[in-house]
Amino acid sequence: MNHSLIHNKLSQWYEQHHRILPWRETEDPYRIWISEIILQQTRVAQGLEYYMRFVERFPDVRSLASASEDEVLRYWQGLGYYSRARNLHRAAQTIVQRQSTVFDTPVDISDQASIFQELISLPGIGEYTAGAIASFAFNLPYPALDGNVYRVLARLYDCEIAFDTSAGKKHFHQLANQLLDQSNPRLFNSAIMEFGALHCTPTSPDCAHCPIQECCLAYAHHTVELLPVRKPRTALRDRYLNYTIYCTPDMRTLIQQRTEKDIWQHLYEFPLQETEALLPVAAGVAQVDLKHILSHQRIHARFHIRKVEQLPQIPNTIAIPLSSLDDYALSRLTLRALDMLLV
Ligand code: SF4
Repeated sequence: MNHSLIHNKLSQWYEQHHRILPWRETEDPYRIWISEIILQQTRVAQGLEYYMRFVERFPDVRSLASASEDEVLRYWQGLGYYSRARNLHRAAQTIVQRQSTVFDTPVDISDQASIFQELISLPGIGEYTAGAIASFAFNLPYPALDGNVYRVLARLYDCEIAFDTSAGKKHFHQLANQLLDQSNPRLFNSAIMEFGALHCTPTSPDCAHCPIQECCLAYAHHTVELLPVRKPRTALRDRYLNYTIYCTPDMRTLIQQRTEKDIWQHLYEFPLQETEALLPVAAGVAQVDLKHILSHQRIHARFHIRKVEQLPQIPNTIAIPLSSLDDYALSRLTLRALDMLLV
């Protein structure tokens, strides 16, 4: 495999084709960290709006550390995977407690290993995110393997090992380390990620106009559509959630906070009854039914809308005006139901 040819071709392609995005225009490790966490499991178009709002409200690690978790979750509301926001918040607090300088600029980058170790020791920062911050912010020679990079590597090397197994991760990490352009890891990592996102795409890679086609073993072996390989998916668990949206004549309702270690921890929702199947709807009660897919769960939700003269007494709920729902961090499912009710 001709590594320097790949480096040159990918960097030329990147210069011509890359999208202009705010986290690419900065070397601020804090902003790069925030963008990387937001972009996990989130499309760029949606993530961009959240990123702008988030860094405007929390422009540095200290402002994030001193905010309440509730407020951080409110800025994350609708993005899903809320553990990402909780980990960001915890990591910011850890950095401030340790008096770490890793998110201050300029950072002394002579001790590369300790920067990487400091990053990876923080909540929510794994090998990928640490590699992305180390290379994009400090131009340090660490690979950053996201889904796009796994796909490009699997095809370039015609590798049939499932990339999401521990053996696969190790193998792909070795490949990425070998291929990394040590002289400019920032540019190389940006280029290979963007190339995977825009050119070597999952279902319609443009092999005919590919700048690295001559190096691509999957192209030579006609195996492009078969790659990358994933481990078989585990079955989704079905859950049945029955919510009641109470509404009094003066437009008040009940909400409660999820406190258990479960999905949507610490977010607010309407009073809930979880059952083995959705509960029937009583006569005269309006309803909204929604299906919601999470990474390992399929949620069947029914929202029963009950008009009542007075709110019932339900433990652990709070009574609020419907107009102040925006002040609480709500789950994406609850927001979807509200959107449907307001149509
Ligand atoms: S030839 Fe096709 S599969 Fe190979 S790297 Fe290029 S776009 Fe991807």
